[in-house]
Amino acid sequence: MEKAGAGPATVADLASQACIAIALRRAFGSDVAIVAEESLQEAEQLGGAVLIDHAVRAVRAVHPGASDADVRAALTAQPAAEAAEFWTVDPLDGTKGYLRGGQFAVAIARVRDGRPVLGVLAAPRLSLMAVERGDGVVAVAADGAGAWQSSLASWEPRPMRCSSWSPGAPVRVAGSVERAHSASDSLEACIGRLGPVRGIRMDSQAKYAVVARGDADCYVRRSPNAEYRECIWDHAAGALVAEEAGARVTDVGGRTFDYSLGRRLEGRSGVVCATAGLHGRLLEALASSMG
Ligand code: AMP
Ligand code: MG
Repeated sequence: MEKAGAGPATVADLASQACIAIALRRAFGSDVAIVAEESLQEAEQLGGAVLIDHAVRAVRAVHPGASDADVRAALTAQPAAEAAEFWTVDPLDGTKGYLRGGQFAVAIARVRDGRPVLGVLAAPRLSLMAVERGDGVVAVAADGAGAWQSSLASWEPRPMRCSSWSPGAPVRVAGSVERAHSASDSLEACIGRLGPVRGIRMDSQAKYAVVARGDADCYVRRSPNAEYRECIWDHAAGALVAEEAGARVTDVGGRTFDYSLGRRLEGRSGVVCATAGLHGRLLEALASSMG
C-alpha cells in the first residue's frame, strides 16, 4: 500500500511489526509501551481485510498460535511516546530498498528518559565483511557496553569500532539512495572540501552499522524538505550502535537527539553521524554550505 506522503508499506512491514510486538508483550507483559511505525487503522483503510489476512498468515510462520485478534492488537496504533521507558520499532526500515532488492533493516530500541539504552539492528541483505550484498548481519548495542555484530545465521558477536579518520584522507560518506529522503549529491559535494569523497549509497539505517564497524567514516542526511522531522524509529537503534562503537551522532546543527518528544525528533534536522575526529569538521562544512 502507498501511505499518504510516507512511502510504501508491505505485508512484510505489518507482519514484522506484529511479530516483534507479540514477542515484546510475551517477554515484558501486555502493557509494555511500544511506539512503532505501522498502525492497524491505516492498514485497514489502505489495504482492507485482505492485507491484514496476509499479514496474519505471515506472522504464523513465526508465532504459529497467533490469532487474527493477536495480530490486530499487536498493530494497534500507539500513543505518542509519553512513558519514561518504551520500545520503538521500525519493522522494516528502507521499504523502498526492500522492494528494489537493496538494503533494508529491522530496528528495535529501548528508550529510557529520552535516550536509547538498547539497540538491535538486523540487516538481512548486508554482508558481514564489506559494504555489499551478503547473508545478513545483526548489530546489538547497550548503553555503556559497546556495540557488537554477528552474522544473522549464528550468534557469534564481534565488537564494532568506528574508523579513525585523519585530515586529508578520503571521506567515505554513507547516504540515502532515495533523493526524496536526503540530498546525498549536494551533501557529498559539500563534504568534498574535507578530502576526496567516496559515496556509499545505501537504503535504511544499516548506514549506522556501516559507520560503526569502520566501513564508512560518516553517515550524513539532510531532507530536501526543510520542514521534515525524522521519526524516532528511523534512528534510535542505529544511532546507539554507532555511538557505542565510538561515533558521534547529532543533527546537522550539532544538537543531540531527544527521543522523549513524541514520534518525531522535534527541533532537530537531518543527521551527522561520524567518527570523532570528523564530526566537528562535517558540522562546519555543512554550516558554511547552508550559509
Ligand atoms: P533511507 O533508506 O536512509 O533513505 O531512509 C528511509 C527512511 O526515510 C524511511 O524510513 C522514512 O521514514 C524516511 N523518510 C521518508 N520521507 C522522508 C523525507 N522527506 N525526508 C527524510 N526522510 C524521509
Ligand atoms: Mg524507517
